[in-house]
Amino acid sequence: MKHAFAVANCTAALHLAHLALGAGPGDKVICPSLTFVATANAIRYTGATPVFADITSVDDLNNAPDDIAAKIDASTKGICVLHYGGYACDMERIMDIAQKHKLYVVEDAAHAPGAATWLRDQTTVRGERVLRKCGSIGDIGCFSFFSNKNIATGEGGMMTTNSDVLAEKIKLLRAHGMTSLTWDREQGHSFSYDVVALGYNYRIDEIRSAIGRVQLKKLESNNSRRAEITHIYRERLQDIKAISIPFMHVNSVSSHHIFPILLKTSNARQPFMSFMRDKGIQTSIHYPPVHTFSHYKSSCEPESLPRTVEVAPRIVTLPLYPTLTQEQVEYVIAMVQQWSIEMQ
Ligand SMILES: *Cc1c(COP(=O)(O)O)cnc(C)c1O
Repeated sequence: MKHAFAVANCTAALHLAHLALGAGPGDKVICPSLTFVATANAIRYTGATPVFADITSVDDLNNAPDDIAAKIDASTKGICVLHYGGYACDMERIMDIAQKHKLYVVEDAAHAPGAATWLRDQTTVRGERVLRKCGSIGDIGCFSFFSNKNIATGEGGMMTTNSDVLAEKIKLLRAHGMTSLTWDREQGHSFSYDVVALGYNYRIDEIRSAIGRVQLKKLESNNSRRAEITHIYRERLQDIKAISIPFMHVNSVSSHHIFPILLKTSNARQPFMSFMRDKGIQTSIHYPPVHTFSHYKSSCEPESLPRTVEVAPRIVTLPLYPTLTQEQVEYVIAMVQQWSIEMQ
């Protein structure tokens, strides 16, 4: 990418992205409900309103391009997509929709460092498909380096863009709207500064940046270990009747951030998670949908999200991180198998 800015965290990155792209009071931005709450909160920080789009299916938990298109109206300003679990959205169709309606696209790539997907190459006449990295396709890409992400610095984030105009805005908004920074002044480029926008302190610090540079070197090998574990899980769990596994048939490159499974019924989730915990295995929920939170309830009709409503209570994620050992993976698989036998 032409520009990349390290920031304090991905929530700050998303906030700055929507600000730089001009979202504000009266605007609507379409985003998933099946995401971490920060995706929606960041839209609201600007005064704009998040409008939730439904997932595609039990096999594809990303926003359905059709439903994104269906939720566009005269106040829609942009779209924020999430590459759920590190599996790329259908960016070709989403970019087409955005272009047609003159909407901006922010990629919440918190799960997706290293992930990529096929896109028509606009620069060639034949329009061949090229592999493009997640976070490099929309107007701005936002990454998280929180402790549980594929690159971890504790707290941290990054924004990427190819637009010089957006880069200038991001640079200002990230650091108090100041025209020159301590570093420039120390280097003798200027003695004072002006403030030309209502900016924030969304910088990352040097110590986390140093950690990030080391972490970045491990991204590729860590992602391939995540892929390996995912393939073992898939192979060994796919015949279990009590569960199904989303994203089985993707042809994009995943970063394998998490490994979600779907239980057949929603009332199986609590007993399943308790069973696994008793066996010493932590499972998680990615995510309680944003539209179900008390703070968000009044702003969305669940009827507009039938597939999210149906699928979300059945989602559980199994352990997935690069340092999981073969024995640990085998143990998790054995316990899922044991649970499925015991529950019959
Ligand atoms: C983690 C996460 C964020 C927020 O990232 P922070 O760096 O913790 O602010 C935003 N969106 C999604 C989908 C995430 O998983």
